[in-house]
Amino acid sequence: MKKHKYFELSEFIRSDTAKKKGIDNTPSFEVVEHLEGMVEEILDPLRAAYGMPIHVSSGYRCPALNKAVGGVPTSVHQKGDAADLQVSGSFSKFRDFTVAWLRKTGTRFDQLLIESNKKTGAKWLHIGRFNNAGQQRGLIMVKEVDK
Ligand SMILES: [Zn+2]
Repeated sequence: MKKHKYFELSEFIRSDTAKKKGIDNTPSFEVVEHLEGMVEEILDPLRAAYGMPIHVSSGYRCPALNKAVGGVPTSVHQKGDAADLQVSGSFSKFRDFTVAWLRKTGTRFDQLLIESNKKTGAKWLHIGRFNNAGQQRGLIMVKEVDK
């Protein structure tokens, strides 16, 4: 992977679930290219503007891992075209910052999901660069999961 300022490839590959279940989550070259494009065009500039650490809680998921974590079968995490992001500080500040930053900069993306887990109270941003049709729709939506 090219040297990026803030993110390492390993952050997008590692998964406790994969480790626990013995799933090999090694990405293909194509997936690595997708991850690189996402870091270059969205995540590094966002991180630079935000000025504080952003944690990747889920990046690439091979189909077996995607299934194991209950991802939708069409999830673009399987292509390396999405990342789930968390911060240790205020989530609402991070959310508002990211929404404003995407609008202000005109950054191309497919969708930003403001996700929360009703059971655990966890909150994160899912950012997808392309959908499965290769589109960048620029959608921003709130989504609650329960698993
Ligand atoms: Zn996601």
